[in-house]
Amino acid sequence: MITIGNYFAFGIVLLISMVFFRNKYLTTTASKYYAVCLPLTILGAIIDTLRAEGIRTAIFPIWLTKSFIVLDFLVMYSITAMLALYLTAKITEHIFFEKALLPAKITLLCTTVVFTVFSLATLPFGLIYSFNGAHEYIDGPLSFIPLLILVPELMLIAIYYAKYRKRVRKTIKAAFIQSLTIAVLITIATFIYDSVSLLILATALIELIFFINFQHQQTGINSITRLHDGRSFFTEASKRIKNRKPFKAYLIKIHSLGTLKQNYGHKIGDELLYQFAFSLEKQFSDDAVFHMYGTSFAIISGTKNSEEHTNRLLEHLDAGITYMENQLTIDYTVAEHKIQDDEANADTFYEKLEHALEIAKENKENHIVYTLDLEIARLRKRYLVSRMQNITATDGFEIWFQPIHSVAKNAFSSMEVLLRLKERNGSFISPAEFIPLAEKTGQIVPITWFVIEETCKALAQAPELNEIRASINLPMILLVNQGFEAKLNAIVDGYGIPHDRISFEFTERVILDDLDVAEKNMRKLASTGYTFYLDDFGVGYSNFNCVLRLPLKTVKLDSSLTQAAEKTKENNNLVYILTDLLHDMNLNVVAEGAETSDQVELLRAYGVDEIQGYYFAKPMPLAKLRIFLKKIPK
Ligand code: C2E
Ligand code: CA
Ligand code: CA
Repeated sequence: MITIGNYFAFGIVLLISMVFFRNKYLTTTASKYYAVCLPLTILGAIIDTLRAEGIRTAIFPIWLTKSFIVLDFLVMYSITAMLALYLTAKITEHIFFEKALLPAKITLLCTTVVFTVFSLATLPFGLIYSFNGAHEYIDGPLSFIPLLILVPELMLIAIYYAKYRKRVRKTIKAAFIQSLTIAVLITIATFIYDSVSLLILATALIELIFFINFQHQQTGINSITRLHDGRSFFTEASKRIKNRKPFKAYLIKIHSLGTLKQNYGHKIGDELLYQFAFSLEKQFSDDAVFHMYGTSFAIISGTKNSEEHTNRLLEHLDAGITYMENQLTIDYTVAEHKIQDDEANADTFYEKLEHALEIAKENKENHIVYTLDLEIARLRKRYLVSRMQNITATDGFEIWFQPIHSVAKNAFSSMEVLLRLKERNGSFISPAEFIPLAEKTGQIVPITWFVIEETCKALAQAPELNEIRASINLPMILLVNQGFEAKLNAIVDGYGIPHDRISFEFTERVILDDLDVAEKNMRKLASTGYTFYLDDFGVGYSNFNCVLRLPLKTVKLDSSLTQAAEKTKENNNLVYILTDLLHDMNLNVVAEGAETSDQVELLRAYGVDEIQGYYFAKPMPLAKLRIFLKKIPK
């Protein structure tokens, strides 16, 4: 009877293990600790049974029974430490700070070592237990000491809980309270049924509680596709990098699943997603397949038969998804990267895949392999993003001005504000390189405020510029932003600059999405004096809808039109025709990119109002501009 609790414990843990280990991967750090607890508890049940039977029946020699008792201590210390580690890992599961668990690990290791040393050291003195001459077990005066290991462990959990309580999930709290209840009940039961060994049963029940609480929310599993999720990908990749196991990964983005979801509704969309995931996992059953997020998937596999593997994947994707016996084709991009010897960590590894995927998307390719060229581009991008984290003059940002020549006045009547980013060696990074990136990262917003502020500052301090309007390149996200006007006015009025000295240039390529809001905001801004230029007109997306609807003052013809004016006869007329048309619509016309006197003559003949180009002036810093303007004969 004394060991009946152990038999139950054995059964419970065996059942949990059968379900738990069916999972192919131990996805989170926390689940790894849990996984260690299970075999330890089974071992504990066996040893505790041997210990109790050894004491009761005296069938083993004393030294063997003593060994079981000592082993029993050690196993119990380890299990409680692992359970405490599991709980602290659960508490810190959503803390993305790698070292959060380190204090717990150190504390638990120290506690376990101290208790082990103490328990072993007191053995010869019979402080915890001893045997009398008749083979009978006698409790020592300090027999309660081994149980005290729970005190520092519970304290540790409490401290972790207090420290991270804002991020702790309800299930963790519930599991903790339930397990404490079990522990208390079992302790009381132990006092009542003095002779029955219930400690292992308590452990097994606590493990069961954790299992029930945490299994249904299985962290690391995507709830729609039941595939391992992005975090599991990182765990798996880290593990392989650490073990120096060669591997490669594919990152797969399915573009059309989002559209399918919109067209067929959520339920069918989810089902398609599931179908896709299911068939992918089946097709690549030897590999680890992950559902990263949204409609992105990843596969980690060995490096054998690499090419064949890739072909198999592409064929599989080309085949599409079967849904209700219909074959739906999918639109996808796959990036592929083999681990390098110097791969620092899973984060960089994934960053490379993502970077490759983005480049493939831009190039409209559906498969890309990470190469040295991509690595160089990625590092460059990282560098630029980090440079754009602080946008101030001391961080190398400067605004330059390019005067624009007015044909009627035969003088400079306006100037375009152009951003420059200075390198330490004095060279400049082209805005054509970093502005498109800033538009993607959102850094274009602080950049634009910097440009606006610096422009106002320049206008306020340079009387030479009194007759000259400044035109600032404005990204659409700011124009459609609700708070834009108030903040803009605060700056412009703050420097005492009349609104009609400031124009904004924008390109129609981005405006089309939000035309209504843009129109509304633009009209409001225009009513207080600001003017608007449509930039880069005549290439790619030319759309007269924009020109007709928006309150524009000026249209800037793209420099390619100026270039073509000189070279090809047929196109000669394009600048002419457009200028004529735009004049009929009461719009000013600026031609960009005039570099030669021939071009300038042609542009004048075609009737453009203003000309911008190296022929008249290159972009220059304020100090240079002031000298430049002074030198021009009036
Ligand atoms: P953009 O708005 O079309 O600006 C005109 C570009 O043409 C400028 O290049 C200017 O230096 C260049 N340019 C002017 N005249 C000539 C010429 O005769 N020949 C040639 N080959 N080029 C000429 P930049 O300064 O390199 O700027 C490139 C682009 O970066 C700009 O094109 C604009 O889209 C963007 N950008 C520059 N500064 C800003 C800014 O402050 N904010 C935003 N949002 N974008 C900016
Ligand atoms: Ca421009
Ligand atoms: Ca332009």
